[in-house]
Amino acid sequence: MTLMELGWSSSLQQSFDQLSRPDLTPARVTTVLKDHYRVSAGNGERLARLSGRYSFAIATRSELPAVGDWVAIDAVGASRAVVQTVLPRRSKISRKIAGREVEEQVIAANVDTVFIVSALTQEFNTRRIERYLALVWDSGALPVLILNKADLANDIDAITSELDSIAPGTPMHVISAMENSGLEALQCYLAPGQTVAFVGSSGVGKSTIINRLLGREAQPTLPVREHDDRGRHTTTTRELFLLPTGGMVIDTPGMRELRLWHSVHGLSGAFDDIEQIATGCRYRDCAHKSEPGCAVRRAVDAGLIEGGRLENFFKLEAEQAFLDRKLDVHAALAAKARARKLCKDVRDVSRRKGRS
Ligand code: GDP
Ligand code: ZN
Repeated sequence: MTLMELGWSSSLQQSFDQLSRPDLTPARVTTVLKDHYRVSAGNGERLARLSGRYSFAIATRSELPAVGDWVAIDAVGASRAVVQTVLPRRSKISRKIAGREVEEQVIAANVDTVFIVSALTQEFNTRRIERYLALVWDSGALPVLILNKADLANDIDAITSELDSIAPGTPMHVISAMENSGLEALQCYLAPGQTVAFVGSSGVGKSTIINRLLGREAQPTLPVREHDDRGRHTTTTRELFLLPTGGMVIDTPGMRELRLWHSVHGLSGAFDDIEQIATGCRYRDCAHKSEPGCAVRRAVDAGLIEGGRLENFFKLEAEQAFLDRKLDVHAALAAKARARKLCKDVRDVSRRKGRS
C-alpha cells in the first residue's frame, strides 16, 4: 500500500518538504490509544509515541494527533516510531470539552466526506440534521446526507424535498442497508485515497452501512493484537481502515459520542432575560452546560428560569448559528460541484478499468 492510497497529496508533500527534515517519514494516524498512536507509512503499522519536544511545544489539546492526521515520524526499529510533528490539516471534526475554559478536541482529521446518517423512521428530525450540517460545514469536509431504512419509510418524497429546502445542493442518498439497496451510489465518495467519516444518532444504521461497505458481516472495527510497553498482549480497535474500494472509513468512539455543540450567538429579543443573567457567568464563553460559576444554571436551580425555556434557548441558538451559515448558498453549490466532479472522476476511472 502506498502513501497515495492512504490519502497523501501534493499539498501534504509541500508541508512535509517545508519541515526540511529528510530524516523523518510521513505517516497517517490510524488509531489513537491512551498515550500511544498507531501510524501507517504504507508499509505496515507502527506503534508511536509523541516526542517530548512536540508535547512541550503544543499550546492546546487541538494540536495533539487525531485519527486521520498526517504526522512526521522517526522510525524506531521495525515496529515503533516517534511522532515529531503533526502536518497541517485539510479538515477537522472537533468537539468542545467544557473545562475551566472551553477547549477544542479534534476527533478526526483530513476527512474528505462526512456521511450524515439518519433513518427514515418516526425519529427522523430535520432540526437535528441541520445541526449536523452546520458541524460538517465547519469542519472543512463535504457533507452528504444518507437517508437509511428506506424499507421502513412512508413518504420519502416529502422528506427529501424538505431536506432540499434546508440544504440546497447537498448530495442526498436514500438507501436501505438492511436490504442492501442504494449503496452503489456511495462508492464514488470512497475512491482510493478518499476518507469518509460517519455521524448520526445511535441506531440509525451506521455500523450496518460500514459492514456493507466492507463486504462482510463482522463488526466494522478490526481488532489488532499487539504488545504494549510492558510486553503484554493487548487487543485494540483500528479506527481508520481501508475498504475494498480503496477508500477509507474513520469510525472512532469519539465520532460516535459526538454531541452537537454550537457557538454562542446573540439572540436578542425572546431570551433577553437569559442573556442578561448570562453576563454574570464566570466565563465569557460559558455554554451554560456544566461550567463552574455559571449564573444561568444557578438561576435555573433557583427557579428563576424554567428548565424547558433554557432548552429552547439552546435550540434557537443552535438554529441561529446554523442559519448564519446556511445563507452561504454559494458554498453549498460549490460543494455540490465538487461532489459531482469527484463522482464523475471515479466513474471515468472505473470505465477505463473496465475497458483495459
Ligand atoms: P448504529 O448505531 O448507527 O451503528 O446502527 P446499527 O447499524 O447498529 O443499526 C441499528 C439497527 O437498525 C440494527 O438492528 C440494524 O439491523 C437496523 N438497520 C440498519 N439498517 C437498516 C435498514 O436499512 N432497514 C431496517 N429496517 N433496519 C436497519
Ligand atoms: Zn453560564
